[in-house]
Amino acid sequence: GEALAVSARVAPLGSRLVLLLVEDLTEARRIEAVRRDFVANVSHELKTPTGALSLLSEAVMDASDDPEAVTRFAGRMQIEATRLTNLVQELIDLSRVQNDNPLEDAEPVRVDELVAEAIDRSRHSASTKQITMAAGGTADLHVWGNRGQLAAALGNLVENAVNYSPARTRVGISARRVAAPGGDLIEIAVTDQGIGISEKERERVFERFYRVDPARSRATGGTGLGLAIVKHVAASHGGEVTVWSSEGQGSTFTLRLPEAGAVRDRSSTGPDRV
Ligand code: ADP
Repeated sequence: GEALAVSARVAPLGSRLVLLLVEDLTEARRIEAVRRDFVANVSHELKTPTGALSLLSEAVMDASDDPEAVTRFAGRMQIEATRLTNLVQELIDLSRVQNDNPLEDAEPVRVDELVAEAIDRSRHSASTKQITMAAGGTADLHVWGNRGQLAAALGNLVENAVNYSPARTRVGISARRVAAPGGDLIEIAVTDQGIGISEKERERVFERFYRVDPARSRATGGTGLGLAIVKHVAASHGGEVTVWSSEGQGSTFTLRLPEAGAVRDRSSTGPDRV
């Protein structure tokens, strides 16, 4: 189609240029398709709770002479409203991590504080399932980056570990420094004894809105955006997130981020390490 027509027109300019142009077009199309899919997904995800809310409000009006039914419908409306709120919040978070340059407000961030904050965020859901959370090795480690974004990323990993684990299991968070050619990295690993993720799904879970089991994700208030946010934060900080998992046994998500001292040493203008 269009790509072929372009290549025919510029063919005399040399095959390398043609190849670049064709690749550009393909990439532009891919980006456009991803954007379209994303908009379609958002619309679909918004329609589920808003549709439910509109049906439930009708049901409440019809049941005005049955207080028990009204209470029941109102309870379900609350669940749908929470779902909608979560989704909007995660969409805002995703757009923020995609649009802001996190390194503009980068600073040395204490790993023990990040971990404590993440544990705090999931304390309530962990305690209702009697899941114990334990952290180790975090003392004296500092990563380089945007505190808010890093907290959101680690918070999502811990939240998932709790959500996708059965009752009375353990979630462990450990940190350590590892040597790397470009400067030391800090590795933060979140390990659960949960349902695990099959090899086939492991790559896909980082995609926006991808869920292994949509019903289960929705039941726990999941939006399918958490790991996309984590992946984006890791990459924009010059790090990465990886997953190891054994189905039915559990998963480990590992965040690797530049160490604060290592970054400071690379650029003489950086602020002092705290
Ligand atoms: P969600 O809001 O659905 O949790 P995420 O982007 O955080 O969205 O995760 C995507 C999917 O990856 C989840 O729906 C779940 O199927 C899977 N997943 C994420 N974390 C874990 C985990 N620790 N154990 C098992 N499955 C997980």
